[in-house]
Amino acid sequence: MNGSRKSFTHLPQDFQSLYQNTPMMMHSIDVNGSLLSVSNSWLEKLEYSRDEVIGKKLTDFFTDASKTFAEETILPHFFEAGSVVDIPYQMLKKNGESIDVLISAKSVRDEEGNFLYSMAGVIDVTERKKAEEEVQRLAHYDALTGQPNRFLLEERLQHALGQAQRDENEVGVLFVDLDRFKWVNDTLGHACGDQLLKKVACKLQSCVRQGDTVARIGGDEFVIVLYGFDSDEEPPHFAQRFLEALSQPVTLDGVEVLNSASIGIAIYPMDGKEVDTLLRNADTAMYAAKELGRNTYQFYSGDMNERVLAKLGMENRMRKSFKEGAFFLEYQPQFDIRTRKVSGYEALARWRDPEHGLIPPTEFIKVAEECGLIYSLGEWVLSTACAQAKAWHDAGLPRVRMAVNVSATQFRRHDFIDMVTNILEDSGLDAEYLEIELTESLVMEDIQQGLERLTDLKVRHIKLAIDDFGTGYSSLLYLKHFPFDRIKIAQEFVRDIPEDPEAMAIVEAIIGLACGLNLEVIAEGVESRKQFNYLYASRCSEIQGYYFSPPQSPEKLTSFMQNQTCQLPQ
Ligand code: C2E
Ligand code: CA
Repeated sequence: MNGSRKSFTHLPQDFQSLYQNTPMMMHSIDVNGSLLSVSNSWLEKLEYSRDEVIGKKLTDFFTDASKTFAEETILPHFFEAGSVVDIPYQMLKKNGESIDVLISAKSVRDEEGNFLYSMAGVIDVTERKKAEEEVQRLAHYDALTGQPNRFLLEERLQHALGQAQRDENEVGVLFVDLDRFKWVNDTLGHACGDQLLKKVACKLQSCVRQGDTVARIGGDEFVIVLYGFDSDEEPPHFAQRFLEALSQPVTLDGVEVLNSASIGIAIYPMDGKEVDTLLRNADTAMYAAKELGRNTYQFYSGDMNERVLAKLGMENRMRKSFKEGAFFLEYQPQFDIRTRKVSGYEALARWRDPEHGLIPPTEFIKVAEECGLIYSLGEWVLSTACAQAKAWHDAGLPRVRMAVNVSATQFRRHDFIDMVTNILEDSGLDAEYLEIELTESLVMEDIQQGLERLTDLKVRHIKLAIDDFGTGYSSLLYLKHFPFDRIKIAQEFVRDIPEDPEAMAIVEAIIGLACGLNLEVIAEGVESRKQFNYLYASRCSEIQGYYFSPPQSPEKLTSFMQNQTCQLPQ
């Protein structure tokens, strides 16, 4: 050993100086693997002094795994073959921290071929390795929640299916979609949306077993892979557990938000044998759960495909029709019950599908809400109705209000007020001639926000009506606090006048309530003379219904309105 150390110090002075001062980490070992010499940069990197390392085994500065690898595999080979290139090890700094390195070495031998010493260069690749790991992480994990992404999900599901096939086991694929994520994003902003997703990911993760996968595969969609369960009851139990966890309120930016989710379940091998099929079928089942009224789960079944496809078909046809201008508005006049003069009109959306003919709004509005088309459709309805009202005013027809139905999804959107204001400005219609019809349940869903938004509309002089009154929530308290101008008595009650005493009691109570609160009241769906007479006697202020006029095209209505006062039909 002394001999080999000696031979190293006999190297030319210049070379020794270069060796010591090169920025590359260098070391030399003797035939026993003990350090003969190290460069200054080697000491600096590992934070040792020269005295602490010279004479020690090189592998004393390795982690346990690298030590074993070096002593059992690499060094014996090196002493024999005389060189190694880019061997990956982990070395230990004095403070215990490890660094990743690549070591290349060559042996120097005497004339007889005896090993004298090694010359080794060490490259620190810690940062590079970290960067590589980060790339791997980004490629496989969702940046926001830290959960596996679709790519890793598919890999893991593939693996689980392979294993399940060998073990003759089942695999559950649960597709989870949040019911109110859009609402959070639209009304509270994206930062809150992100917070919600993180919380949801934590909640889902805390409900599963170790080894199960909770992946986020897009927006508010999560997929859970449950491997090997003991009974068929397990997947629905898990689904129930997720629903319960997700329905606990969360606080986002100080606002308490209630959420829920819809879950679709597909089971391998019953509902599909391939990754794609299982994911697609779980997704289909999730749609079915949403249709059932949300906050619930559904197992996949074959006939679901047909229903979901039909709905998707409707969505696509509707988008296409909307672009092609196949939607139009009809207007139904409203009348002052005493003067029988037109007091307003309600704009009602119509869709003539080239394939399926006229589709009623009761069918397409719901689908438009679900697929998001309601935003552009609603904006178009509002601007068309405002422009029509302005045109009628300019043509010298009665200057009365135009009522427009607004659905919950539209109303909650953060830019709703701006949209209304811009449309009023563009059309030139005075705000006091626009009336917005909202359903009871819509306002009750988030009282605080509802109140703020209604007040915002009110200060702009826009009129507000509660649509279908009596069919939603029964709390009357908000009537007092909310700035409504008008109550619309739902058709359901008007229809049964004057045969059904209960319906009449309700109608009278609503009229009394409106009077007491100083609100106007209009009865919808008035079809007969008897109903008209009853409402007249009950001091209802306005009526709307087939009795005086059905919804009509603007052209027909124009001539209808020139004759302002309606004769009472028989
Ligand atoms: P709604 O707001 O309660 O509208 C009144 C509905 O009653 C209309 O049906 C109208 O055609 C119908 N109607 C009017 N008079 C009578 C009558 O005397 N007897 C009977 N049986 N029915 C009468 P429509 O046009 O099918 O609209 C249905 C619902 O679709 C509306 O109910 C409204 O909630 C929604 N809707 C219509 N247009 C729009 C829109 O532009 N935006 C939104 N968000 N919803 C709309
Ligand atoms: Ca309405």
